Amino acid sequence: MPTTVSILETQDVTHNVKRLRVEKPDGFTFQPGQATEVSVDKDGWREEKRPFTFTALPDWDDLEFTIKIYPGHDGVTDQIGKLQAGDRLILDDAWGTITYKGPGVFIAGGAGVTPFIAILRDLEKKGALDGHTLIFSNQRERDIILRSEFESMRGLACVFTTTKEDVEGLEHGKVDRAFLAKHVKDFDQRFYVCGPDAMVDDIKAQLEELGADADGLVFEQ
Ligand SMILES: Cc1cc2nc3c(=O)[nH]c(=O)nc-3n(C[C@H](O)[C@H](O)[C@H](O)COP(=O)(O)OP(=O)(O)OC[C@H]3O[C@@H](n4cnc5c(N)ncnc54)[C@H](O)[C@@H]3O)c2cc1C
Repeated sequence: MPTTVSILETQDVTHNVKRLRVEKPDGFTFQPGQATEVSVDKDGWREEKRPFTFTALPDWDDLEFTIKIYPGHDGVTDQIGKLQAGDRLILDDAWGTITYKGPGVFIAGGAGVTPFIAILRDLEKKGALDGHTLIFSNQRERDIILRSEFESMRGLACVFTTTKEDVEGLEHGKVDRAFLAKHVKDFDQRFYVCGPDAMVDDIKAQLEELGADADGLVFEQ
């Protein structure tokens, strides 16, 4: 059921990603990794619904979204980028995207990391992060969402790679077969892949060739 909610706070996460803390309607529930359709409660925008993932945990007092803004492209995220505390969003019920099914490797491209934010926060809270790996690919170092939070998650092995610059301390290049072979010792574990269309298709194909079973979610066509 569509519900109108107020934005409580907005914050910059990176140069083009915003965190929106949003009021949680009474009784609203979701699972880590789930998303909902969101629109902006302004004339001309109410029917423009786009999927965004809940990045807070279900037991937090408020909801949270972590949203990459495409400024200059006359879409919903450009509008969201202009919103302030007190402005309103229209949300729908939560629906499944990527569900956690057991320890393994999370592979994300850009804003495709958002379902993993909630899943990893949940595992951290339960003290159950040992044996999990996050491989997070971005074009540039400044694009990396929540790097310090991921790095501080006890038990989580983090591998950051940049494709458009070569930065000391980070891997360089796309997540391809050679990259996977270098960073993954065991392909007999679960893989969760989320990012742009081409990336998800490529990585799932490589993983299948390497004998792995992967869940994938496409974020951008
Ligand atoms: C299940 C699911 C969950 C998601 N969760 C999140 C999330 O938590 N956070 C998040 O940031 N994103 C998330 N996304 C992606 C998000 O839904 C899209 O980025 C969003 O719909 C873009 O809306 P828009 O109206 O701004 O752009 P749209 O008009 O819908 O177009 C978006 C696409 O246009 C392309 N584009 C950008 N600029 C231009 C331009 N100038 N000209 C032409 N094309 C351009 C981009 O590549 C982008 O893919 C999720 C997607 C899915 C499927």
